[in-house]
Parts: sequence; C-alpha cells; structure tokens
Amino acid sequence: MRKTLYLKFVLAYFIFGVFGFIIVTTFVPNMTKEQLIREKAENLYYEATLIAGTYASGLYTSETSLETVKVQLDSLAVYLNSTIRIINPSGRLVLDTNTPINVEDIVVIDNFDPTITSGSYYTIGNFFGNFDRDVLSVLAPITSNYMVKGYVVIHCDMADIEESCNSLLNISYITLVILFLLSLIILIFFTEIVYIPLRKITHATEQYAAGNMHYEFQVDSEDEIGYLAACLNYMANEIARSEDDQKKFVANVSHDFRSPLTSIRGYLEAMIDGTVPPEMYDKYLKIVLNETERLTKLTNSLLTLNNLNTKGMLLDRTDFDINKVIRETAASFEGTCRQKNIAIEMVLTGDIMYVNADMGKIQQVLYNLMENAIKFSHHNSVIKIETAEKRNKLFVSVKDTGIGIPKEDLKLIWDRFYKSDLSRGKDKRGTGLGLSIVKEIISSHGEHINVISTPGEGSEFIFSLAHSNKNDEED
Ligand code: ADP
Repeated sequence: MRKTLYLKFVLAYFIFGVFGFIIVTTFVPNMTKEQLIREKAENLYYEATLIAGTYASGLYTSETSLETVKVQLDSLAVYLNSTIRIINPSGRLVLDTNTPINVEDIVVIDNFDPTITSGSYYTIGNFFGNFDRDVLSVLAPITSNYMVKGYVVIHCDMADIEESCNSLLNISYITLVILFLLSLIILIFFTEIVYIPLRKITHATEQYAAGNMHYEFQVDSEDEIGYLAACLNYMANEIARSEDDQKKFVANVSHDFRSPLTSIRGYLEAMIDGTVPPEMYDKYLKIVLNETERLTKLTNSLLTLNNLNTKGMLLDRTDFDINKVIRETAASFEGTCRQKNIAIEMVLTGDIMYVNADMGKIQQVLYNLMENAIKFSHHNSVIKIETAEKRNKLFVSVKDTGIGIPKEDLKLIWDRFYKSDLSRGKDKRGTGLGLSIVKEIISSHGEHINVISTPGEGSEFIFSLAHSNKNDEED
C-alpha cells in the first residue's frame, strides 16, 4: 500500500493516543497513590500528635479517666474513618476505639516495636500481624517528664485509600478519552486544510506530467497551499500557452518555407520537362531567385528572433546620433522609394541628437518600420519620420499614409508570423516577423513601442529611446 501523508498522520495520531494511554496508566496510578498515602499519613500523624499531647497525656497523668478518653477518641475515629489506639512501649493495648474497655482482658501486641516507621512517620502493613489486611499506621509518642509513656497509633484501612485513588484515576481516564476525542478535531482540520488540497495538487501534477497541460483544478484557500495551487495553475497555463505558441510557430515556419519551395520546385520541374521553353528561362529563373531571396530573408529573421529571445541578451549600448542613423537608413530605401515615387520627409530635433542604445539593433528597428511603411504605402505618397524630446526620452515616429491596420489586428501585428488580411494581397513576400523583432528589441532596451492606425488613412509607429547625457555635454 502507498504510504500516504494521511496514513502517516493517522498513524502518528494513534501512536500519540497509545503512548498517552500507556503513560497515564503506568505513571499516574502510582503517583496518585503515593500522593494520597502521603497526604493521609500527614493528616493522621498530625491528629496522632494532637491526641498524644492532649487526651492521651492526660491519661498517663491521671487527669482524665480511660472512659472519657475512649468516648472522645471513639468519635474522632469515626470522623477520621480510622482506628485509634493507645499502646504502651511494651506493646500492651491500653485503648482501642474498635473494642470496648475490658480491664481484665489484657491484650499485648507481640513484637511491638515503635521504630517500625524507620525514619518516616508512617508504615504500611498488617502491623505486627495485628490485622488481616494492609493498613496505614502512624505512631506518635506520648511523653511525660521527658519519658515515653506510650504511643498513639492511628490505623487507616488501605482499601479506603485505594478506593479514593481509583475514583481519582477514573477522572483522569475520562479526561484522557475526552482529550483524545477532542484531538480528532486536529485530524479533521488536517484533512480539510492540508490533505484534500494537497491531493488535488498531486493529482494535477500527475496530469501535467502526463502532458495534460489544460487540466484545471481549484483550491479555495488563501494560505500557502492555496498560493502553491495558484502558482501551479499559472505555471501549467504558461506552459500550455507556450506549447500552443510553439506549435503555431512550427506550423507557420513550415508553411512559410513550404510555399516558396513548392513554387521553386514547380518552376524547375517545368524547365526540366520542357513545359517552359528555353527562351522563357530568364523570366522563371528570376522568379526562382526571388523565392530563394524570400527564404533567405525568412531564415535571417528567424535567426535574429532566436538570438533576441536568448535570455540575458547583451545589448551593446553606446551613445550615438539617432538623426544620422535615421538619415542613413532612409537613404538605403532610396531605390524602392523612387520606384513608387514615395518621398521621405524628416522632421528631426536638432542637428545631432544622442541616444543611449544598441545602434545595430535600433538600425534594424528603423529598417523594419520604414520597410513596412514603404510596403504598405500607395504610390506618390509621403512618409514622415519625426523625432521629439520629452522628459529625458526621445520619441521616434514613422508615419505613412498607406493602407492602415484594422482595429482588430492592432494587437496581433506584434505576434510572430502575423500578417493582416489587408496586407496579404499587397505584400506576398512579407514574413510576419518584422514587427516581432522590432518589439523584442525595444522591450530589451526597457522602452516601449506603440501604433496608431486608421484603415485607409495610414499608420504611425512611435517608439521611445533613452536620452544620452552626451547631449548636455555638447551644449
Ligand atoms: P511583414 O514582414 O509581413 O511586414 P511585420 O511583422 O513587419 O511582417 O508586420 C506584420 C503585419 O502588420 C503586416 O503583415 C501588416 O499586415 C501589418 N503592418 C505592419 N506595418 C504596417 C504599416 N505600416 N501599414 C499597414 N500595415 C502594417
């Protein structure tokens, strides 16, 4: 059988119960009995010394008669529930509250020895064979003129002491049972607060381990276990999401690789089997070349994204002139712009504007944004690149008057491989990775990028950069 936590806890609970019971039944009876005997003996000894100092000494000085003393001791014996005797040092019984006075009948206790208590003030036994059962006896000497005249002896039946001891023990046993039953509450609490939630968590972990990342469970508590359950739930959701992302990613990559490959293969096959005549080779080889370019671009973008995603990506931060980088990047699009008759208008703050960032990566951001702006702009339009300083930040905006982005797509454009339906017709060569790269780069700088767009009117992408101290030095 599997040793569950619950089983262990129940076992510990019963071990606690059994040990508690053993301890209470072995130590407590002895301790209670000893304590009761000691108390009783102390009481009786006190009474005996009182009697020895009063009634009994009167007897020896002949101040009181034997009968008077007997009457008084009789009632005291009833009160103390014991037998009171006066015994001469020789062992002769002078007075016994259990028997009437009989002067003729001389009773002598054989082997009477007052030192029987040996250092203590009581003794337990049959008192020199005088009783047929065990009695507790205390002895107090009666002295007169510094001489021991006799002894006051009080006997108490041990059966009486044992009876009181048993009734006290019964109370202890009942208390023990009640305590044991009450401690069941702990077991109930443990079951409700720890065991049941823990079982849910274990079951969930088994499900996750088996690959069922969409398994959901609920633990409604606000303690550490509730927190653990919430964390586990969150972790599973994140893994499930990243698994889904990964699947989507692989599906997209495969799709994007397959379509150019299919067309390349189609054209090449057509050339080999003669469907395409040699005079048309030039045209189709150009298409094939275009497709290979697309594949190269896709591979490069994937590699860039992969590098950006690597945890702890180090940025090569330097202070550089963003205006210069903007101008250079815009210049690289001169040819494309001329084809579409697009003008790039630059409204830049100052002649030189230093920012602190990784120049190569920011160049890539600008390149991707400008490429999109040109790609999605109509012929004979203007693209505006603007920089503005605000609160120690520099904002760069790339604005076009192109096709725009539908509202429902605005959030999705940052996702890998996302291409809006609007753009599909216009842009057959896009990979849908450009903006993901842009977002990753800007986020790794601890900065933000936003987009404002209206379909049919155009789009504006604005990102922030850290201002460099070098600007102040130059001033
Ligand atoms: P792609 O390589 O396809 O351009 P991106 O990640 O750069 O991939 O862009 C994702 C999608 O966002 C594009 O397919 C397009 O639908 C939309 N998009 C990006 N920039 C613009 C823009 N300036 N104007 C209109 N749509 C844009």
